[in-house]
Amino acid sequence: MMDRSKAAVVLKAVALVAAVIGLSMFFTRHWGGKMEKPRAPKEIVIRYDMTVNEFGRENGLNMEMLEKALGFKELKDYGKKISDLPLSEQEIVTRTKKTLAMSEEFGTKNWVKIPVKIGLWLVMMAAAFRLLRKGAVTSSRRKWLYLASISVFGVVLGNEPSPMNTLTDTIALLGAKGIIFPPRMVMLLVFLAITVLANKLICGWGCQFGTLQDLLFRLNRDSDGKSVISQRKVPFAVTNTLRAAVFALFTALALGWSMDIISPVNPFKIYNPLMVTSLGAAVLAVIVFASLFVYRPWCHAACPFGFIGWLAEKASVFKVRVNYTTCIACEKCSKACPSTAMEAILKQDRTAPDCFSCATCVEVCPTGSVSFSKGKRDLPPQGKFTQGS
Ligand code: SF4
Ligand code: SF4
Repeated sequence: MMDRSKAAVVLKAVALVAAVIGLSMFFTRHWGGKMEKPRAPKEIVIRYDMTVNEFGRENGLNMEMLEKALGFKELKDYGKKISDLPLSEQEIVTRTKKTLAMSEEFGTKNWVKIPVKIGLWLVMMAAAFRLLRKGAVTSSRRKWLYLASISVFGVVLGNEPSPMNTLTDTIALLGAKGIIFPPRMVMLLVFLAITVLANKLICGWGCQFGTLQDLLFRLNRDSDGKSVISQRKVPFAVTNTLRAAVFALFTALALGWSMDIISPVNPFKIYNPLMVTSLGAAVLAVIVFASLFVYRPWCHAACPFGFIGWLAEKASVFKVRVNYTTCIACEKCSKACPSTAMEAILKQDRTAPDCFSCATCVEVCPTGSVSFSKGKRDLPPQGKFTQGS
């Protein structure tokens, strides 16, 4: 029979997930705003004897859109025949489709929620960064901040935008409609800039699905940081190979065949439960369950932003660093790290896996030798970790 502490872990996890689903359903119904769901592309009506004005009316383009699509500036241009334009039929259709697609992207976004979310993300990043720099992240603060991230960025403000969808939707839209949506591109660059500044700060503290996985994992640890139900560290080579393959396949299919393989299984839809398909629900159940035993399974094994962020992380200015003068080689930091990241950072003997800037290693070091600071990582003195490693 399951002992009480193990049963408590399961109960807390079920309660957390049920609360996320139930409250997300409530918030999407009452404050979802416009459904962030693009319409199917429509066929463009074009005849050589049409005037530009008629062409615009038939296809739902106003003057501003006609100007963007066909490059007109003067009123007399709108009376011209399609046959008189210096563009081929194919060029007109392609340019019109892109203009309509761009206008649809703008029209399907909730322009109240998005700026609020971006503002709060920046506040959260600044708060987490400050705590990290001061070495003041404790287990209890971390849990409360994760809960805040899940509640605010996921439950209340929804599944979109997210660090992942800024990347996947950019690629998918480029493949399907040949356009780049500028606000999303700017957001993606901001997320990558945050990663270059301070490791995976955005994934660690701001991603609504990343923090949910993290909190589930930590619910399965006791107050001393030990696993209640056995937890595993999966070799990074395995998860990263899988993740790179998902990224390559997703990009190739999206750009080559306009096929989005992430959307049907996108686990962020836990915050928009009415949009979850049966396949999506099955994948979500597996990820949520696995999160109790393996650290951030979606981030490590599938997330396209996780992969790109891991590459960007290599150039991070602020990161976890070890002072080997005071380090006593007890390896408490690498044992406490939920993944194999700290072992690689501590021993500097292999490629470092994703570091989510959670500061568990900083918190447990008995000599204060681990910090979140600026600069290159030092190499450990030779022989420091040979015994017992
Ligand atoms: S890697 Fe994880 S935390 Fe980062 S965007 Fe993907 S799901 Fe979110
Ligand atoms: S415990 Fe691991 S993941 Fe967390 S900050 Fe340290 S090295 Fe990074």
